[in-house]
Amino acid sequence: MTGSAGSERAEPRGWWGRWLASRAVARAAIAGTAVGITILAASAVFASTVTADATREVRRTQQTTKVLNDISVRINAQDAALREYLATGGTKYRSDQLAATLDSARADLDWLQANNAVDQVELDAIRGAYANYSRIVVEIMTQTERGASVQGYAELASLTFAPLRDEVLDNVHISQQSLADYLEGVDDRTVLVRTVAELMIPVVVLLFAVCAFVLVGYQRRAERQAERRLHEATHDPLTGLGNRTMFQDRLAAAVRQGEASGEPFSLLLIDLDRFKEVNDTLGHAAGDELLCEVAERLSRTCRTGDTVVRLGGDEFAVVLPSTPERAAALEAGHRVLETLRRPIELSGLMVDIDASIGVSMYPEDGSGTSELLQHADVAMYAAKRRKDGVVGYDPSMDGGDAGRLSLQSELRQGVERGELVVFYQPKVDLASRRPCGAEALVRWQHPERGLLGPDTFIPMAEESGLIDLVTAEVLEQALDQIARWVRLGHQLPVSVNIPARSLADGAFPETVMAALDRHGVRPGLLTLEITESAMIGDTTRASEVLQELRAYGVNISIDDFGTGYSSIANLRDMPPHELKIDRSFVMRMSANSRDETIVRAVVDLAKNLHLRVVAEGVEDENAMRALSELGCHEAQGYHISRPLPAAELTVWLSRYATSGLAISAA
Ligand code: C2E
Ligand code: MG
Ligand code: MG
Repeated sequence: MTGSAGSERAEPRGWWGRWLASRAVARAAIAGTAVGITILAASAVFASTVTADATREVRRTQQTTKVLNDISVRINAQDAALREYLATGGTKYRSDQLAATLDSARADLDWLQANNAVDQVELDAIRGAYANYSRIVVEIMTQTERGASVQGYAELASLTFAPLRDEVLDNVHISQQSLADYLEGVDDRTVLVRTVAELMIPVVVLLFAVCAFVLVGYQRRAERQAERRLHEATHDPLTGLGNRTMFQDRLAAAVRQGEASGEPFSLLLIDLDRFKEVNDTLGHAAGDELLCEVAERLSRTCRTGDTVVRLGGDEFAVVLPSTPERAAALEAGHRVLETLRRPIELSGLMVDIDASIGVSMYPEDGSGTSELLQHADVAMYAAKRRKDGVVGYDPSMDGGDAGRLSLQSELRQGVERGELVVFYQPKVDLASRRPCGAEALVRWQHPERGLLGPDTFIPMAEESGLIDLVTAEVLEQALDQIARWVRLGHQLPVSVNIPARSLADGAFPETVMAALDRHGVRPGLLTLEITESAMIGDTTRASEVLQELRAYGVNISIDDFGTGYSSIANLRDMPPHELKIDRSFVMRMSANSRDETIVRAVVDLAKNLHLRVVAEGVEDENAMRALSELGCHEAQGYHISRPLPAAELTVWLSRYATSGLAISAA
């Protein structure tokens, strides 16, 4: 059996789950991870910048050191050449050698200047010393060429050379020292970056894990929500059974399977009888309870593989796969009906459920889903009409029964087009045998199907809510007719049948009074017939509506007394004016002593409560007489007259008035 799965909650379990699922945690984790990753990225950029700067610094220092060393080499070479020059007394060869060393360090000094490689003051000192030294060397060479003594210049040159050399070497040291200092700073920064990374990596990993948990949680919840949405789309929220969508899918799948395997299957369409009555009189909560109980019973009765769904309202369907023959499907229908018919307790009352089941078979009654459904519907409607319980589809039903659905849409138009006609069945006073009233009974003059009796469309009108339109129309026509009869001199009270749901409508008494006023009919000429079951339960609204109508002077009659969910206490709490004994008892009273006893009991009850009592279904003189003897006040039935169109009843009444004859044995 499928279609009764409950919906699953998608909430995470435990404080840890709830904590992870909270939006604040998700946001904090994502923000934290973003910040952590940014810090790590910034650290990496910082580290690489530090490394690049350090590399550049090392390279620059190496270059500077090399240039300073070159300068040192060049001035040493110049000094050596000067010494050789002085030692050899300035030979041409030595003179050329010395001249070649002149200004040899200038390019390197310019490089130092251009690259800002050493401190400017230091560089100026070197340049100054180098210029001095070079000038002395040039002077020595000039004096030597003149043949003059250069002893003083030679001493001066050696005095100038020593500080120049020291200055250059000092700068080599300075440069190396500043590199060492710089690298020490780089070390500090590297340690800082590493510390930050060591701290941040576990934090980021943790936050990342939280993010992963949160995301996985979100994904799970999204999956569960999708599952729940699918469940909601295919299930009835009240009963948990599959809904119409699931039904269409399963039926289509069964047809496909049938096409492939050639195996027949069957469709059961189930409609509860009198569900509206329960809903309107006991309230929606009781109606819901009833539907849930029905769903439960259906689920229990059906087998694994069967599809049980609620199509809406009080309509259910079962798809039975592989049903070899019609008999098996009908048997399943009877099994279902038997389970449904067991009484159910609602609001403290034992209520009998009944249902009508239509059965259609694949492929015999239809090869497609809509055909199968339509034929099951026709069969179900036939079951309802014939009060037959379970009925299998038969092609002969198509003509007379016609689809209930098309009838439903036609009824509204029919009411609007004035196709409803009201017949009147007279009632006579049993003591005087004179007409004492009439009951308005609706018929539908259908343009194609002819005159339809109320049983063919009232149950459907009650189910679809169209009954309100019907009630208003019948009330209107009946009041118009009462006014006409009054004008003709017949003060004839007329009874109108009112569905239970009108008693749930607080505005109903006002509607009735407005209609009475419009037609100028005094309230005492109108009786409203309500079924016994419409009065059960403590429906405060029903009680108020009835009290209000009574207060206006409208008469209240309880119809079909003895067949509904009896609660005699209602006769005390909401006393009517009249009880109408159901025709089933009256018609069988001469043949069945139990029915006679019931009729007698109802008559006694009514008399003791000072209520009028009417027997309907009086079909012969014997019944008439027996009822008279029992003390029943009024009689209605074919023996007196069948329900007649208004004009014919007018003739009937006039004939009676002029002949003055009491109604006697026909
Ligand atoms: P009901 O109110 O109990 O009406 C009496 C039914 O018994 C009528 O059937 C009437 O034709 C039938 N009847 C009267 N005398 C005899 C008899 O001697 N023998 C037999 N076998 N039947 C007899 P009808 O007109 O087919 O109405 C059936 C039911 O339809 C009514 O039962 C009432 O419940 C409902 N109905 C009729 N008109 C209206 C209406 O305007 N509004 C509502 N809500 N229901 C209506
Ligand atoms: Mg009636
Ligand atoms: Mg009745």
